[in-house]
Amino acid sequence: MSTEVILVDKNVNKEETYAQAVGIIRSGGIVAFPTETVYGLGADATNAEAVGKIFEAKGRPADNPLIVHVDSKEAAINYVDDVSDKALKLMDAFWPGALTLIMKSKPRIFAQNVTADLETVGIRVPNHPVALNLLKRVQLPIAAPSANTSGKPSPTLAEHVYHDMEQKIPLILDGGPTKIGIESTVLDMTSEPPVILRPGNVTKEQIENVIGTIRFSADLHGNVPKSPGMKYTHYAPEAPVYLIEDDSKLIRKAIEHVQGKGKKVAVLSSTEYPEADFHFPLSPETLYSSLRKCDMTDADLILTGVPSERDDNDFMMNRLEKAADHKWFS
Ligand code: AMP
Ligand code: MG
Repeated sequence: MSTEVILVDKNVNKEETYAQAVGIIRSGGIVAFPTETVYGLGADATNAEAVGKIFEAKGRPADNPLIVHVDSKEAAINYVDDVSDKALKLMDAFWPGALTLIMKSKPRIFAQNVTADLETVGIRVPNHPVALNLLKRVQLPIAAPSANTSGKPSPTLAEHVYHDMEQKIPLILDGGPTKIGIESTVLDMTSEPPVILRPGNVTKEQIENVIGTIRFSADLHGNVPKSPGMKYTHYAPEAPVYLIEDDSKLIRKAIEHVQGKGKKVAVLSSTEYPEADFHFPLSPETLYSSLRKCDMTDADLILTGVPSERDDNDFMMNRLEKAADHKWFS
C-alpha cells in the first residue's frame, strides 16, 4: 500500500482537502491526522475491523484501549452512561483540549477492541482545526492512538508518522508540527475522587480548580497498571536511555566516563553540552523529535537530564521515566 501525504492548511476547511480522508474512514480504513498533542492514527470507532487495522499498523497489544475522539461535548454525552456533574464541568472547562475523560461506555456503541473489552471508554474533543474538521465531516467517533509504531516515541511531525507508517496506511494529513507535543492528560472519572492515570498538559491543579480534589494514580511510578497502557515500553529509541540529574558537573563526568569506554553518547537536555557526541534539546515540544533524532545517530547511549525539582504533575518526567524504563545513570 502506498502512503499519500496531503498538506493541509489548518485555516482552510475545504471539501476537497478532506474528501479522501472522510471516504477512507467511512469505508473502514485508517488515516493519520494532526491533533494539538501528537499525530493520531484514526479509524471509525464503531467498526471493529477498521479499529483492528490500527492495532495491526502500530503493532499495539490488544489489551491497550484507544482514546475516542469526538467533535463536541454533545457527541461525547451520547456515547456514555452516568455522566457526572464533575465530568460535565470538565468538558465545559477543557474541551476542546488535551484532557481525556474515562467514563462508563454505553453498551454496543464502540467496537470491543476500542475499549479492550473494558466497560469504560476514554473520550476527548481535540483542539486542532484539522482534527475537528475531519470529525465534523466524518460524523463518526474516531478511535485514534498516537500514530507511531508501538513502543516508539510519539509523532509530533507528519514526517515521523511517515517514517513509522509508510506502506502501512493509505493517507497522512500533514498539518505541520503539533503544538503541545505530549499526549493528553488521562483522568478516570469512574473513581471518586477522580484519578489521573496519565499526566499531561492539563495539570492536577487546573482540574481541581474546576471540580475539587482529585488524586494521582498510585501506579504512576509503580508497576501495577490501572490504565492498561501503563505497563508497556514507551517512547524508546534504539540506544538505551538513562536518566541523570540535570547538573552540568554530573553530566560532563558521565559523558567523559562513557567516551572513556570508546562509546558515543547523545545528551538530551535544556542546556548544551558541546563535549557530547550528539546533543538534542529537551522541552515538551521537542522531547519526542529529539528521541527520534537519536535513532539517526550512532550513539551507544542516551542521557536525559532531569531537573532535581519535580512532582507527579511533571508529564516530562513521566515520559522520560518510561523512555528510560526508569534506569538512572550511575
Ligand atoms: P495513546 O492513545 O497511545 O496515547 O494511549 C491512550 C492511553 O489511554 C493508554 O495509556 C490507555 O491505556 C489509556 N486508556 C484508554 N482508554 C482507557 C480506559 N477505558 N481505561 C483506562 N485507560 C484507558
Ligand atoms: Mg501512544
